Amino acid sequence: MRLAVGVAERGHSARDVGRVDMQHTYGIFETEADHLIELVRRHAPFAQIRAAGCPVCAAAISVTFAADGRGFTTACEGTPLHISTYQDIAEPPSWWRECVVEPTDLTWYWREWHSFDVTGKLTMKVSGWQADDIRWSGQLECAPDDPDYAFWKWVLLQSGCTSDLIDETEVAELRARFAQAAR
Ligand SMILES: [Zn+2]
Repeated sequence: MRLAVGVAERGHSARDVGRVDMQHTYGIFETEADHLIELVRRHAPFAQIRAAGCPVCAAAISVTFAADGRGFTTACEGTPLHISTYQDIAEPPSWWRECVVEPTDLTWYWREWHSFDVTGKLTMKVSGWQADDIRWSGQLECAPDDPDYAFWKWVLLQSGCTSDLIDETEVAELRARFAQAAR
């Protein structure tokens, strides 16, 4: 599991004039959650997946499907939370529509603020704004053996993407283009 750490701050709003600096820490599953991902792929009942629990902290597991049903992520409800990378799926389970979450939380990637180190590892600044009015920033760390590495390398070096900030909608479009390019 990789640990991503970001410092978040509560944004100013009419009812909240204070400022709270806080630390957000979350873990990204590498192989620990493969059995949960496999349960989704084998169309196990959602209750079974939820009850299986986070392999790191034992909190309940949630599954979030993309609006087109072609991919999903799993995450736990722990503090800090643990999440999987995005998984493509050809045939979603019957319950997938119940797991589509309206994108009220916004995440964007700072395309120009990225670097590859000598081992090839990619680091890119990421910011977000959650529905509960918390802004956060952190960084994407992606090593060459990461399942998402080929995608991000393609985005940065080959896709022709010129957005300064890549938001989730554009990420979804880029993933679709990447899947076609890889064929
Ligand atoms: Zn967890």
